[in-house]
Amino acid sequence: MKNIVLFGPPGAGKGTQAILIKEKYNLVHISTGDVFRFNIKNKTALGLLAKSYIDNGDLVPDQVTIDMLKAEVEKDTDANGFIFDGFPRTESQADALDIFLKEKGTGINGMIALEVAENILVERLLKRGEISGRSDDQDETKIRNRFNEYNTKTAVLKDYYSKQNKYYGINGVGSISSITEAICEVFDKL
Ligand code: AMP
Repeated sequence: MKNIVLFGPPGAGKGTQAILIKEKYNLVHISTGDVFRFNIKNKTALGLLAKSYIDNGDLVPDQVTIDMLKAEVEKDTDANGFIFDGFPRTESQADALDIFLKEKGTGINGMIALEVAENILVERLLKRGEISGRSDDQDETKIRNRFNEYNTKTAVLKDYYSKQNKYYGINGVGSISSITEAICEVFDKL
């Protein structure tokens, strides 16, 4: 099993790249944001709980997110590997993921991070909001709050995985295919 965390701030291109990488290596892609949005759309208890956080651009509480992530992994225990997209986003989520994967006899092989400057990200997110209708992409105040959450709670994970020699930063600006290629180059060596 080869498991990666696809990392980066909102709008870095994690979702776009995850779909391409998943096809190439036959991996299971888990996007916690997508799972939350699916639950919101279907008005499940989890969706109702998560909605106000997501609408405000806040992180959903750790325990709720961790439990959901575990349930998603359990659906595909015989996978070739997982792409974790949008998870972990806090140090406790990273700890929980390490413990959980260890129990399953596996672990994270690497964190591949898409590095993009914040001013480019705001443009990208506003554009995505026009196309997708995602409300958290349409309001600059919410976008700024998501960056604040990222900078105060999530960015520390770069150190977390660097300490384990598992951090691989790549330039997230360029053509989609050139970025996919750069990700594959890292993935092949993991
Ligand atoms: P995303 O699609 O990854 O940009 O996630 C959209 C929103 O879902 C985030 O702004 C958070 O409100 C919530 N969310 C997604 N993943 C997580 C996570 N790992 N921890 C907490 N909240 C999350």
